[in-house]
Amino acid sequence: MSVTLDGLPASEGIAFGKVHLLNWAIPDVPHRTLPLDEVEAEVERFHRTRAEVKAHLERIQSEAADRLGDMEARIFDPQILMLDDAEVVDGTVQYIAENRLPASRAFHWRMLELQHLWRRTSNPMVLDRLNDLEDLQVRLLHRLLELPDPQAWEDESTEPIIIVGRNLTPSLTVQMDPARVVGIATDQGTRTSHWAILARSLGIPAVVGLVHASRSVEEGQDAIVDGRVGRLIIDPEARDRDVFEDRRVRIQGWEEELAQIARLDPITLDGHPVALRANLDLPGESVRAREHGAEGVGLFRTEFLVVGRSSMPQEEEQYEAYRHVAETFPNRAVFIRTFDLGGDKFPMFLNMPAEENPFLGWRAIRVCLDRLELFRPQLRAILRATAHGDIRILLPLVNDVEEILRVRELLGEEEARLKDEGIPFASSYKLGILVETPAAALDAAELARHCDFFSIGTNDLVQYTLAVDRTNSRLAELYNPFHPAVVRQLHQVARVSHAAGIEVSVCGEMAANPLGTFLLVGLDIGALSVAWPALPEVKKVIRSFRVEDARAAARRALAASTSADVTRCLAEGLGNAVDLSAFSGRWSLSLP
Ligand code: PEP
Ligand code: MG
Repeated sequence: MSVTLDGLPASEGIAFGKVHLLNWAIPDVPHRTLPLDEVEAEVERFHRTRAEVKAHLERIQSEAADRLGDMEARIFDPQILMLDDAEVVDGTVQYIAENRLPASRAFHWRMLELQHLWRRTSNPMVLDRLNDLEDLQVRLLHRLLELPDPQAWEDESTEPIIIVGRNLTPSLTVQMDPARVVGIATDQGTRTSHWAILARSLGIPAVVGLVHASRSVEEGQDAIVDGRVGRLIIDPEARDRDVFEDRRVRIQGWEEELAQIARLDPITLDGHPVALRANLDLPGESVRAREHGAEGVGLFRTEFLVVGRSSMPQEEEQYEAYRHVAETFPNRAVFIRTFDLGGDKFPMFLNMPAEENPFLGWRAIRVCLDRLELFRPQLRAILRATAHGDIRILLPLVNDVEEILRVRELLGEEEARLKDEGIPFASSYKLGILVETPAAALDAAELARHCDFFSIGTNDLVQYTLAVDRTNSRLAELYNPFHPAVVRQLHQVARVSHAAGIEVSVCGEMAANPLGTFLLVGLDIGALSVAWPALPEVKKVIRSFRVEDARAAARRALAASTSADVTRCLAEGLGNAVDLSAFSGRWSLSLP
């Protein structure tokens, strides 16, 4: 009988293959006491092996740079740095010298100590670092113990495989050939895990957060990974396979059609235009976003500059990244979001103690306003990028007018400095906020007086309105953007923006769900921004309905009393114009 496991979608796409259980384990490390006269040579051997592993990782990094781009390759920096980290190296040498342990045992002990220290946090950035550490441990221990290189998967066969494991590592992911590894499913990890970012760049469908997947499958079993909805089906029955095949063929047919659609305008059947922009996680995605029909960038997340880094990003590197995106979209709006740190993203260099409730903690604009040595270089880099395009500065998680005023003050100071230094920038840039909390939505009229635009971040707005953690797959059913409380806030923010004469857009995932697109256009939200792979789908939806029908359905949805009523109003309004089952949204759509 087939078993279905639901996790979190991490990389789009759907795939069928044979399970390959990841055998990337730490080997047994035997205990032994070294004769005193071997200690010096053992320290030497440790340093030599460390250098070999470093050279190996640097080779993988340079292959990653060729295959995926420089930014993606920087994901290997922390791992490479760790091999020279005094905490790692000195601690190991000390165990060899003082306890007369073989290098393998000494290194293993040191790693266990560091892992114990770091594990006392639930912070996913630190957990990612632990994962990097484990990757190093596996590589280094195999060499020190003179074991054969651990094979991640056998290579003789060409049969498509689905890698299932507790977690992955960047160095394993980047070596995967998408023709052979057609899917990934892991117990742990998040969408922002380093390896998940690489899987997206490689186009390998992936599902994370499956909790027990690696203990629920056997080597060689058939499996389906659906990275669009975050699902793993083990041992699919004939019916599941038919549905999979049907879905795959439909999606393939769609993709061909979508390539054509990318060239068409995002206008409704009755000629109402919608500005359709892309969400980017990496600057390298901007060209693909343009090819997919983006009319600008509605959300450029800048956390790639800090994720996994051990030092603050420099102004120059940031400026180059922002300029690259701006130049890819001449005469189009590019919304650059200032660092949205905290919650599930904490860089090592901030040395943050673990928080009880990180999503309600020190995050986003709060971090930036407290750590000006991080924020000022970003503001300067964005200001410099204004010389190359239509830049809009987007501030995350703003609740208070004071926060906007403080940023304006900082921008004024940095503008004055740039002027003094003779560095060009355009003072015509716009500044606005992400509306992501009920406080901001309720207080939108006040906030609008100080903003040039609003962008509604429904991913967070839903989590804060419903008190449902967006990363908790157990609560996935409760995380519903069609809850009447969310719909009413969307309406309120749209109304206030229109009255204030400022642009309002939506950049949360909701905009990429067909019912969401229909509702948002019906609420007269004139601009949508979605993950770039979803652009053609959304364009197809926009082109399939009339704005008048969307407005009528939105009015009915606003009067509905339950989430189910809201989705029913929208589905009825949209009628048969769109094949809902082919979409990724899980909210009350019947998925195959
Ligand atoms: C949002 O919260 O809707 C959003 C777009 O930002 P992120 O998903 O990066 O929190
Ligand atoms: Mg957000």
